[in-house]
Amino acid sequence: MSYCFGIDIGGTTVKCGLFTTEGVLLEKWEIKTRTEENGKAILPDVAETILKKMEEKGIEKTEVTGVGVGVPGPVVKEREVQVAVNLHWGYTMLADDLEKLLDQIPVKVGNDANVAALGEMWKGGGEGYLDVVLLTLGTGVGGGIIINGEIAPSHRGVGGELGHITVNPDEEATCNCGNHGCLEQYASATGVVRIAKKLLAASKEESSLRTLETVTAKDVFDAAKAGDHLAVEAVEVLGKYLGLVVANVALTVDPDVFVIGGGVSKAGQVLIDVIIKYYHKFAKIIGDNKAKVVLAKLGNDAGIYGAARMVLK
Ligand code: ZN
Repeated sequence: MSYCFGIDIGGTTVKCGLFTTEGVLLEKWEIKTRTEENGKAILPDVAETILKKMEEKGIEKTEVTGVGVGVPGPVVKEREVQVAVNLHWGYTMLADDLEKLLDQIPVKVGNDANVAALGEMWKGGGEGYLDVVLLTLGTGVGGGIIINGEIAPSHRGVGGELGHITVNPDEEATCNCGNHGCLEQYASATGVVRIAKKLLAASKEESSLRTLETVTAKDVFDAAKAGDHLAVEAVEVLGKYLGLVVANVALTVDPDVFVIGGGVSKAGQVLIDVIIKYYHKFAKIIGDNKAKVVLAKLGNDAGIYGAARMVLK
């Protein structure tokens, strides 16, 4: 039997998965991310938990094809991390350092959003396809582009940063990146709520959202599903900007499928339908054979799946 590990390092936890090389997830677990002292304990902790798992399962070093790692930062040549603010890391020779700690088991590294896209291509919403674009609608908006089964090249580490595509140059509010009018300002969980609140403030129309003390993205979608006019309008704004980006990316990389993940995607088919409506409106030139738009399937496990997949090429 041969095995591989998929490791997804986040700012609070490190998600770990032990896989067969056929892609069966045998076990998953988490350890704490110790970010103190410039995150110097993170890699030794990762190595320790991997070696412990191998011992526990009686897995020999020769049976391990490799360890894939996803990190929240720009990655160079599948080996080095330029910076990872959430981990308190500067430039890190991640693959070299971790291979030393793992007695030379091969390590590959990827940006977490791109790695999640690889996971969704392999065993998630994009399974069966090799050209897949993932949009993750969470606290922010992330993206990942997979071309011919591999993460698309990214020379400055910003490839797939679909959340920071400008969709509205007239926006006055400032994005976390400093720009005005990024997709993230409309399509993240906070973005949906921001749109809804703006619509509520601009109108006297009755809405079930007015009775709520705090409004969440789920509230907006639930109200829209129940036919609340203002909530429907908010979802249309979100759909318009997402559909715009999907159309523009479709005309750039022409993938087989767009996979929509992240907390906001729990809204389900209503979200997919509104994205498709505007995607089709803005991508007329593609004709009837447009790329599919589907929901992600792996949830928080996309990162460990994709990390594992990295070492199996
Ligand atoms: Zn931005």
